[in-house]
Amino acid sequence: MEALRQLPSVEHVLHDAACAALIDELGQAGAADLVRRALDARRAALLDGADAAADREAETAIVVATARALDAQPLRTVINATGVIVHTNLGRSPLAPEAVEAITTSAGGYADLELDLATGQRGSRQSHLGPLIARLTGAESGMAVNNAAGALVLTLAALARGREVIVSRGQMIEIGDGFRLPTIMEQAGARLVEVGATNRTRLDDYAAAIGPDTALILRAHPSNFRVVGFTEEVATADLARLGREHGVPVVDDIGSGLLSPDPDLPGEPDARGSVGDGADVVLFSGDKLLGGPQAGLIAGRADLVHTIGRHPLARALRIDRLSLAALQATLRLHGDPARARTAVPVRRLISMPLADVRRRAEELAAATGGEVVESAARIGGGALPTIDLPSAACALPDQDGALHEALRTGTPAILGRLEDGQLLLDCRTLLADADVATVAARVNACR
Ligand SMILES: *Cc1c(COP(=O)(O)O)cnc(C)c1O
Repeated sequence: MEALRQLPSVEHVLHDAACAALIDELGQAGAADLVRRALDARRAALLDGADAAADREAETAIVVATARALDAQPLRTVINATGVIVHTNLGRSPLAPEAVEAITTSAGGYADLELDLATGQRGSRQSHLGPLIARLTGAESGMAVNNAAGALVLTLAALARGREVIVSRGQMIEIGDGFRLPTIMEQAGARLVEVGATNRTRLDDYAAAIGPDTALILRAHPSNFRVVGFTEEVATADLARLGREHGVPVVDDIGSGLLSPDPDLPGEPDARGSVGDGADVVLFSGDKLLGGPQAGLIAGRADLVHTIGRHPLARALRIDRLSLAALQATLRLHGDPARARTAVPVRRLISMPLADVRRRAEELAAATGGEVVESAARIGGGALPTIDLPSAACALPDQDGALHEALRTGTPAILGRLEDGQLLLDCRTLLADADVATVAARVNACR
């Protein structure tokens, strides 16, 4: 095929000046491997009908660029001007300085992760978290694994394998990216028993479904959607009473990780409330409203938490040392709710007064010639989809999205929202006031 004739050899590409930086970074062998993969990809693209480059040199440039793109990219800092506070694609929660320090302190050395220094005996990594989770939620016992979806799988596997779990049809959630409750249930080896209708489920529906094979009643908070209108769900307290009558534990997956009711987040379920309502096991994320590292927290009855912790999957899902250090530091900040609102970044952004957000937008608009517009920020991460947080953005004309692309691909990367030919830079999600100057400088350099 004619187009393939222009393709350079591996050697030719490696000797090209543009490849020098790649060789510098990866060594001769590493660069050669990437160039080979890039050539394969380019050959496949040409056979697939891609336009051939004008000559061999242009073809070589394409191969070098492809090789670069094929290399593993380091994580890059992103300034979040999207208005979505817990942005899963941006790593969810920025950590509090205290959590970062806890990671730094324990990262570079050894630590008493699974050793009781007082006795010299083997200890449990959960001893660094359990008492704190129990105290903050009011539960008898607590533990953590590496994410909340894992906490759910583990809980189901440990408490319901081969048996039935009752779930309301109104709570048949997809957690994200195709992970649906029925699939998770199947993987955990539990049998799903759906009750009620999508919009209404009553206590009687649950009661009628309880049988000798019932292992659990599961409540899953529909955190990424709302059923509105003619709706009814059974309160946790009523479910817990029903469960107790029949000796069936109630597991409450509240998702977002609020520890206690928060005036900024009305209607969001909280772990302390759920434990108080009688849920036997409560599950939640470490990196949504808790504002910590990725983790799945489990709070509940001591016997059940013990059984969950002894399941073989607990080992596969165990929380790593660095996340454990960050989670403990974050939980300590939550010991004082008022302190958490200022010290935990996602909570600070949620509760930041609109006047402060607007001041940032005005400063940014003044520095860039933009216009201050009202905006609606979101909590994100699946939490509270129906709540808009009043916010302010700097709007800049960007008909073709070129400015947004330049900001997104530069350093530091800046992510905003394109709406109706305008680039909106939402100022509620800027982590610090100082980010305003950084964003302004980059905007001005891009135009
Ligand atoms: C987000 C969420 C999960 C999954 O949590 P991850 O931290 O993403 O693993 C599970 N259940 C509910 C209700 C959630 O909102």
